[in-house]
Amino acid sequence: EAKTARTGGYAFFEPAMHDGLVERVRLEEDLRAALDADGFEVHYQPLFALDSQRVTGVEALLRWNHPTRGLVSPVEFIPAAESTGLIRPLGLWVLESACRQGRAWQGIAPDQDGLKISVNLSARQLDQPDLVDRIAAILEQTGLPPCRLVLEMTEGVLMENTDSTLQILNQIRNLGIRLAIDDFGTGYSSLSYLHQFPVDILKIDRSFVQDLAAGRDTALVRSIVQLAQSLGLETVAEGIEREQELDLLRLLGCTTGQGYYFSRPVPAATLSQILLRQRLERVLVPS
Ligand code: C2E
Ligand code: MG
Ligand code: MG
Ligand code: MG
Repeated sequence: EAKTARTGGYAFFEPAMHDGLVERVRLEEDLRAALDADGFEVHYQPLFALDSQRVTGVEALLRWNHPTRGLVSPVEFIPAAESTGLIRPLGLWVLESACRQGRAWQGIAPDQDGLKISVNLSARQLDQPDLVDRIAAILEQTGLPPCRLVLEMTEGVLMENTDSTLQILNQIRNLGIRLAIDDFGTGYSSLSYLHQFPVDILKIDRSFVQDLAAGRDTALVRSIVQLAQSLGLETVAEGIEREQELDLLRLLGCTTGQGYYFSRPVPAATLSQILLRQRLERVLVPS
């Protein structure tokens, strides 16, 4: 779309296509260079229990700290990282950073069950032959207990490549790690396949949460939560921006949520402050 805008709509002319290719190659080179030069950061968005409104976990979200463009959103570079295969080393870097940070946070987590650390996994990483070994090694090196780690993947990942995917997911889960389906409801949305996969958590996509306040999608969200409950799965609502959405989700039986209403994704140091503040509240006002 950006390309079309720049060239006044003539996206199919040779020069525009050429521009696109040059840009792509440069993006790939820049990403590679950034991985070598510590050019990435992990930000963290807290997840809250909807009843107590205490932090129960955090999601690790990748940011590219670009020398001239500032912090670049993952939606702008994850596709290129996936198509080049760079997502594999990059994904492991995120995992290691998040596990190390998560281990450091264990002492100050407000929830006594311990802070859960969620990390996104892309389809290309599941093709990586030594993925499970690398995950196990990272857990061992960082000392994060496997039960504190959640790996998130989209429905598409589950639908592709079913046999070997299933095997890998089972291996990951046998390590004690929990699995979440991200952006649930946006993908193939055939609910019947769900029980075939070893998942623990459904993350209800932001688009459904946004529609709740407008009086739409209530029945849909209710049925997702009911389905999850009948399968023994936890539900996490994504993209809660308003109190009204929080109230409705709580009413519908959703247990956990994240969104700008609570907090945007923030650098690790800022999240440490959020955790410390909550810990203090817990000492002052025990539940
Ligand atoms: P996601 O995993 O579904 O992450 C949630 C996204 O929703 C994040 O965008 C977050 O900032 C945004 N968000 C959270 N609360 C709200 C809200 O209340 N309102 C709105 N409008 N947005 C909210 P972000 O950080 O830009 O990440 C976008 C996507 O990039 C992620 O979606 C995930 O699919 C991908 N991604 C991020 N980090 C990684 C990574 O380390 N590895 C892989 N493979 N993908 C990643
Ligand atoms: Mg996610
Ligand atoms: Mg999501
Ligand atoms: Mg998403």
